Formats: sequence, C-alpha cells, structure tokens
Amino acid sequence: MTHHPSPLVLVVEDEPNLSEVLEAYLRREGFRTERAANGESALRLFRAAKPDLILLDVMLPKVDGFEVLRQVRGAGNTPVIMVTARVEDIDRLVGLRMGADDYVVKPFNPPEVIERVKAVLRRTRPTDAEGSLKVAGLEIDPRGMEVTVAGRPLELTLSEYRLLEHLARHPGHVFSRAELLAACLPDSDALERTVDAHVNSVRRKLAAAGVTDALDTVRGAGYRLMDRAAG
Ligand code: CA
Repeated sequence: MTHHPSPLVLVVEDEPNLSEVLEAYLRREGFRTERAANGESALRLFRAAKPDLILLDVMLPKVDGFEVLRQVRGAGNTPVIMVTARVEDIDRLVGLRMGADDYVVKPFNPPEVIERVKAVLRRTRPTDAEGSLKVAGLEIDPRGMEVTVAGRPLELTLSEYRLLEHLARHPGHVFSRAELLAACLPDSDALERTVDAHVNSVRRKLAAAGVTDALDTVRGAGYRLMDRAAG
C-alpha cells in the first residue's frame, strides 16, 4: 500500500523562540518541519525540501518575506501563510495581490496557527493526493475526521480520533504515552494514564466493528497500530 508521509511545513522565522514554539506544536500534531531563519535559506530549503506549506515571516534578514513569497509564487502553488506583526503588511500583501493563502498577525496563539495550517492544507491539497488513509481494515478520512470500517463510521470522540489517526499514520511504530497524549490532547495537562483510557475505549469501538487485533500494547513502551492485513 502507498504510505503518505505527513505534510512538511517550512517555518521561516528569524526569532528562534517563535520558530521553536511553532515547530513543537506542528510536530505534536504529526507534521514534519524544516526551519529557516532568513529569506535566503528559506528559498534554498523551499527548492531542496519541497515543503507542503510555508509559514513565512515578513520581516526577515537578507531577503524579506515579500521577496520570498514572490519567488515561491514564481515557482508554483505551494501554500504560503504570511506571519507579521504589522497590519500594514497585510494591506500591502492583499493590495499587491501577492497570492498568500492566509495571514497571521503577531503576537499569535500557536494552536490557532496550527488550525490555519490545517485549514489551508485542506483547502489546497488535491483530494486524491491526500485522500483517505487505509490501514488495518480502517479507512481514515483526515478531512472529515472520520474513521470507517467496511463503510460504517465509528463514533469516536475528537481525542480518540486524533489518537487513532496518529497511530495509523505510522503503522508498526511504537508511540509512548507521552507522545500520544501530545497528539490527542495537545492543549491539556492530562496524565499519561488518560491515554490508556482512550486506547481502551478505541479498542472497544474497534472490536464492536470487528477489528480486534489492530491496537497493540507494547509493555513498558507504549502503543502501536499494526497493519496485519497489509503483510
Ligand atoms: Ca521577523
């Protein structure tokens, strides 16, 4: 089966605190990230790494965000979310029709930026390229956040859905409780045993739908989803 890697986001930001926070949030949500601290390395990474989306600060050393956006647009349709502390920048971007896909104003709330990233990706990714994830007898639709077994939807809570999608994106990979907690409850200070409760609940729902051997407990390590059907 084809494995779709998780989307790669290029974070272009010259303030290390901000780029670190953004990368941490993105990774917690399962994105891959690259980081550039100036416009020149942003363009180099854009060409070399072919990101699925660029979070682009406007005020940057060497080559500014306007010029980076212009060159990215000259090369194709890679989605770009502009980040700026100055509302005038947004007026200028809109006025010049520079083709950014969205705008974020500093100071920003990281979870909100992540939501914008997801929204832009949903809007811009071709349906067939991302499509649904088929693993272990499950069909996972990341756009509708729905999991179906043999065409019948499972009734999952949002946390359960996130947990299952996270595991399903990397079949066979063992995730620790801490990692799963970050993936399924990114904004909470819940304890790791909360993950056990969610896993048990997902298992019950899977079993009720006829999927009994997909979710493994790996003693002392965590959990993984096995795609036994694929072997
Ligand atoms: Ca800056």
